[in-house]
Amino acid sequence: MEYDAIVIGGGPAGLSAGIELAQPKYRVLLLEKESFGGPIINVEWINGYPHPGEKVAGAMLASEMVKQAEQSGVEMELAEVVEIEPYSGCISVSCADGNAYTSSVVIQAGGLNSRKLGVPGEEKFQAKGMIHCAMCDAGLYRDQVVAVCGGGDAGLIEALYLARFASKVFVIEAQAQLSAKPVLQARALANAKLEIRRAEKPVEIIGNQGVTGLVVESAATGKRQTLDVYGVLIHVGYVPTTDYLEGVLALDDSGRIAVNEQFETDVPGAFAAGDIRSGSPRQVAAAVADGKAAARGAQEILETLQR
Ligand SMILES: Cc1cc2nc3c(=O)[nH]c(=O)nc-3n(C[C@H](O)[C@H](O)[C@H](O)COP(=O)(O)OP(=O)(O)OC[C@H]3O[C@@H](n4cnc5c(N)ncnc54)[C@H](O)[C@@H]3O)c2cc1C
Repeated sequence: MEYDAIVIGGGPAGLSAGIELAQPKYRVLLLEKESFGGPIINVEWINGYPHPGEKVAGAMLASEMVKQAEQSGVEMELAEVVEIEPYSGCISVSCADGNAYTSSVVIQAGGLNSRKLGVPGEEKFQAKGMIHCAMCDAGLYRDQVVAVCGGGDAGLIEALYLARFASKVFVIEAQAQLSAKPVLQARALANAKLEIRRAEKPVEIIGNQGVTGLVVESAATGKRQTLDVYGVLIHVGYVPTTDYLEGVLALDDSGRIAVNEQFETDVPGAFAAGDIRSGSPRQVAAAVADGKAAARGAQEILETLQR
């Protein structure tokens, strides 16, 4: 066997699992498709995570976790996992770059992807006015009008950040009410640069070389209106990164990985931790705790194999 354990995903859950497994003695490979640390590197402040000081920046927390994983001996590769195949006594993990690895145990910690709106223009204007991360791109929209689709926590956090640079930020929420925490709603309502439009559905993103408008449709009247905006950020929920696991591991109705109390899946030796597992509270602290617990379960299997 090449590795004792393979961890898929380098966010808080995967890094925590890797650290827990590598520290004692095991050879651990962590595969991450985008950036080690995961999406929190683009979150300005992480709330609710125990850390010295009043609050912790997402980028700082991510880099601390990555550093600890490196120091613990976790081997880290940038690669997207596209297939896992359980055999008796081992699991094979294949990557988009053509490499494949085997291990005795696998911990799935791939998190969630942002859900797409599925409207015309969304694909066409990728990299031409579709904003993927407020913290990375807000400076490009200084003194311009932009829109954020989605009135949940993430949507309002991003809208408030964009408002520091943009001249105006429309927040488009398809439901009659925002779903963000009351504290975020209060901050959004108090921000004069935000115009919150409820019960309106984004139906098209328009433009030429770049985005010039967002077409919204009123739920009450069906009437459409074009808002003149030069950037659109979409935060309308998340989907688990489990397409390639269908038929391999049991998934729940939302596509998240079903686990028992020890974070084991229905495949022996395969565990799931963090946002990707069924019932996750989707918090950094919970993802870290999941990673540790899944690693403990994995260690028990590895110890049994060594006896
Ligand atoms: C805007 C925003 C603000 C947030 N604010 C807070 C907050 O203030 N406090 C808080 O506690 N939580 C917050 N969260 C939630 C928190 O970020 C998540 O709960 C946490 O990051 C989950 O960790 P994870 O390791 O399970 O998944 P992730 O952090 O999503 O990491 C998963 C990693 O797996 C990688 N991956 C996915 N599929 C593959 C594959 N096939 N092959 C290889 N790699 C793969 C991804 O690239 C990613 O890096 C916020 C989230 C967002 C989006």
